[in-house]
Amino acid sequence: MHITEVVLDGFKSFGRTTRIPFYEDFTVVTGPNGSGKSNIIDGVLFALGLARTRGIRAQKLTDLIYNPGHDGDEAGDGPTEASVTVVLSNEDGTLDRSQVVSAAGTENVGDVSEITIKRRVKETEDNYYSYYYLNGRSVNLSDVRDLLAAAGVTPEGYNVVMQGDVTEIINMTPYQRRGIIDEIAGVAEFDEKKEAAYEE
Ligand code: ATP
Ligand code: MG
Repeated sequence: MHITEVVLDGFKSFGRTTRIPFYEDFTVVTGPNGSGKSNIIDGVLFALGLARTRGIRAQKLTDLIYNPGHDGDEAGDGPTEASVTVVLSNEDGTLDRSQVVSAAGTENVGDVSEITIKRRVKETEDNYYSYYYLNGRSVNLSDVRDLLAAAGVTPEGYNVVMQGDVTEIINMTPYQRRGIIDEIAGVAEFDEKKEAAYEE
């Protein structure tokens, strides 16, 4: 399974709908500092529910909405909604139809050779709302998480290596580094379950 396209709409620096193609083997995004390269990755993490707000460099969810005055002092009249859609090719059958159906809670998921996960954040006068969609069906974060976990993508995983992560790993103590190996090897999950069982 791999990402084929990311569509950003009103997300961070992407004020206009922007479609970014991803290739199966290797895709490089280049551009000057501050041009929005990392924002694309933030968009992927946001849509897939893989990061906390801090992890995608925002104080609060609504900071992710495109703000024309972002770099100035004036807030500006921007959109009140942002969305990111991640299109995944499931042509290799990483996920069964039944898994997609169970996550979406309906048989109505269309052709599962393509999986689309979309997240939207909407700001109203005194509140904000966040919505997830799987192949166009409204779902919860836990549904998205379960489905991605079945495809080997988890928030604790190292599917995404962020700017500064490598330096962080270099500066870690051997014990902390061992924690990463445990996580990659899948041992950490059992340690956590063991801890939880002891607590009960
Ligand atoms: P570098 O090469 O330095 O890593 P980059 O290409 O990764 O740069 P990003 O960090 O993706 O750049 O983009 C930063 C830009 O995004 C900044 O100019 C910032 O003003 C802009 N930005 C972030 N959030 C918003 C927002 N809500 N509205 C408008 N612009 C935003
Ligand atoms: Mg960057």
